[in-house]
Amino acid sequence: MNRADSTRVLISGASVAGCALAFWLNRYGYAVTVVEKAGTVRSGGYPIDVRGTALEVVQRMGILPRLREAHIDLRRLTFLDEDGSEIVSLNPHAVTGGVEGRDLEVRRGDLTDALYAAVRDDVEFLFDDSIDTLDQSGNGVEITFRGGGRRTFDMVFGADGVHSRTRELVLGPEQQFHRYLGYRFAVFTMRNTFGLSRETVMWNSPGRAAALYAAGDDDVHAFLTFAKPEPPLSASPDPRAQRDLVATVFADAGWEVPRMLAAMRDADDVYVDGVSQIHLPRWSGGRVALVGDAAYAPSFLTGQGTSLALVGAYMLAGSLADRGHAAGFAAYERDTREFVTANQQLAGKGGAGLFPTTPEDLKQRNIRLRSLSSMPPAGGRPAHSALTLPEFTLPMT
Ligand SMILES: Cc1cc2nc3c(=O)[nH]c(=O)nc-3n(C[C@H](O)[C@H](O)[C@H](O)COP(=O)(O)OP(=O)(O)OC[C@H]3O[C@@H](n4cnc5c(N)ncnc54)[C@H](O)[C@@H]3O)c2cc1C
Repeated sequence: MNRADSTRVLISGASVAGCALAFWLNRYGYAVTVVEKAGTVRSGGYPIDVRGTALEVVQRMGILPRLREAHIDLRRLTFLDEDGSEIVSLNPHAVTGGVEGRDLEVRRGDLTDALYAAVRDDVEFLFDDSIDTLDQSGNGVEITFRGGGRRTFDMVFGADGVHSRTRELVLGPEQQFHRYLGYRFAVFTMRNTFGLSRETVMWNSPGRAAALYAAGDDDVHAFLTFAKPEPPLSASPDPRAQRDLVATVFADAGWEVPRMLAAMRDADDVYVDGVSQIHLPRWSGGRVALVGDAAYAPSFLTGQGTSLALVGAYMLAGSLADRGHAAGFAAYERDTREFVTANQQLAGKGGAGLFPTTPEDLKQRNIRLRSLSSMPPAGGRPAHSALTLPEFTLPMT
């Protein structure tokens, strides 16, 4: 009998990590339920990267061709001075460390749609619901749902993002695991009245950046980020107060920022948060394990959150199927942690250097950008490919 036979598992969160984990656990024969607090798998959203080792994961899932079709193929990344004049225009890979012709950049919704399509017929999804309480004192994990249901699972997985509720229930409050990197950001969509197409334009002043990212021709993803030494007081602060803070910080900014602020007031998809990472002493507790941003969010400064979620899901499911839960969770962490750490460390090097806080540092950054060759490094950043995926054994059918 296969180890997974009749083993019932619950995954909290139906985004990148949750759907990828559901795919692999289903493949290994587990009976999978996914609970998602939103009404559906969230489509929409900003472009994300799939690079290095994570490409091998999507290849093994069979969704690589679909993602290649959705690839945005950004042509240009242009940096502007405070007065709106051009500093330099580069091949984006020269800045991100991606590999042209290999690494993928897709709309987040295109990735989650592809992942959801790969599992929706084989996995039970409970939308508009979430875990309320979790009790491991018996043989399994007893769950009560916010919607009122009550069920027992053999294992539970937290794939519910950087502010994970599952993590809080099992390992404790977020503050102790949260590493704030000194910046806040707001993202939202606005109409593309700028004539931009498959390109990003970024304006900077010391401690502030405003970017317009045009994946296609219709909409642009507007992005405002600014330095603020104090972390947000709460993981889910009042959205109106957050917008007001952003508007105040950028009130005197030039270029297209006034139009961006006006669009932010009317946008229905504004997302404001602190730039932060999650660092956990362990990725599991009893019969509950964490994956993706819930376990090791690296922050958008690394551009690796999605890739870590995909690789983590593959490693967790495979380790579990090979060894059962106690040894499997330990093997998942042992074999994946070095890869995660190498990618989290990218925030300190490449990314944060994009948003200098002093005039002198900004000048130095501009000198560095001008000196970058427009050709990307041939092999990409070593951290992106720092794990060779093991082959896990599939159950006999
Ligand atoms: C502005 C921005 C830009 C980014 N840019 C990039 C980039 O360029 N490249 C890149 O690789 N990554 C980027 N990322 C990061 C990337 O989005 C995440 O790292 C990645 O989506 C991780 O996936 P996840 O599934 O772990 O978490 P998430 O995508 O956050 O998904 C968590 C899911 O859990 C659900 N959920 C939350 N709480 C509960 C609950 N209590 N119960 C049930 N469900 C719940 C949520 O609704 C959501 O569906 C960016 C992130 C942001 C915010």
